[in-house]
This record gives sequence, structure tokens and C-alpha cells, in this order.
Amino acid sequence: MRLILLGPPGAGKGTQAQRLTATLKVPHLSTGDMLRAALAAGTEVGRRAGSIMARGELVPDEVVIGVISERIDQPDCAGGFVLDGFPRTLAQAEGLTRLLEQKGLELDGVVELAVDEAAMLSRIAGRAAETTAARADDNPETVRRRLAVYREQTSPVAAYYRDRELLWRVDGMSPIAEVAGAIEAALTEMGVKRLYRSDG
Ligand code: AMP
Repeated sequence: MRLILLGPPGAGKGTQAQRLTATLKVPHLSTGDMLRAALAAGTEVGRRAGSIMARGELVPDEVVIGVISERIDQPDCAGGFVLDGFPRTLAQAEGLTRLLEQKGLELDGVVELAVDEAAMLSRIAGRAAETTAARADDNPETVRRRLAVYREQTSPVAAYYRDRELLWRVDGMSPIAEVAGAIEAALTEMGVKRLYRSDG
């Protein structure tokens, strides 16, 4: 199953992606995690991304598209994957469509976690206070910037997939188990649609 989890910072994409990888037995591909790993390893990509991430801005499209393209080619992605934090711009969504076409792969669907922005600010503030290994970009100013970037650059991505009838919207404000249940229902519908598609 090839799936995208969409939603603003703090919406619970990471938590839901972890659950999904356990049930679907496919890897969780988080571009944020990959970029943080590249930064820690001191690679060229990490050097380019570091200061941009610290400001809460977006790393250039071609950089993240390249990272994802390479990652999808790994053997553990043969049975599918859950994308978290990618695509974040229209150009990335279009890039992903082209990339999957070239590789002969199909996207099953996109789940958007719909949330209230004010609640996200306090949720991330709580996350920063709870963890000892707090993320450098979880400070209030950067979080506000990340939310604004989401509104301006990532919201159009939902419309892109809605137009292609690939978007499922789930209430991300519900308790974690309820969100997981709603996502499962969406996955069932995606599976049914896929069956119809393969029947031609
Ligand atoms: P995340 O862990 O998904 O919140 O990502 C942390 C930061 O990494 C973001 O604020 C961006 O600076 C960068 N980043 C992650 N994914 C992408 C992406 N798809 N496009 C551009 N920048 C990204």
C-alpha cells in the first residue's frame, strides 16, 4: 500500500504513521527524519538543509524529491510505504506523480489529518516541554512559521489530490485511537477502489 499522510505540524502524522507501519508492514518515510539524519551525519544534503529547517522554512523541492526517489528504490519499499511530511508543495506533489509513473508504481491514497491551528500551537508547546531531546524547531516562533508555511505552501497539495479523487479527510482532533480507526476506514475504501481499478 502506498499512502501519504498530510497535515500541519503537530497534527499527529508521526504517531499515526508509526501505527500504520506496524499494521501494514511497510516503512514509514518521513522527510523530516531523513533530513535530520542527514544533518547529524554531516552530508551535503544535511548541510544544505540545516539552517533552513532551523528557520521553519522548506528545503528546496529538488533536494527532497531526490531524497524520496532514492529511498523508494530501496528493497524494503517494494511492498509500499507511508509518506509523512512529503509532499509539502505542489511542485513536490507533481514531482512525486512523475516519479511514481517512471517507476511504474501507483499511489493508493492520501489521508489528510484536519486540525485546528490554535490547538496545534499548544500541542507542539507541550511536546517541546515533555521531551528531553526537544527538536530545535519546536520553539514557539519557528512553530508559528512552520504553520504559516503549511497554510501557504502545503494546503494546495490537498486540493491537488482531491481533484484526482485520492484524498480522504479525517478529523485529527479526536483521540489517537479514534483517528486510527478513521484512517483504517479510509484504507478500506482505498482498497475497494484499487480492486475496481484492477478489474478495469
Ligand atoms: P517535519 O519533521 O516533517 O516537521 O520536518 C521538519 C523540517 O524539515 C521542516 O520544517 C522543513 O524545514 C524540512 N522538511 C521536511 N520535509 C520537507 C519537505 N517535504 N519539503 C521541504 N522541507 C521539508
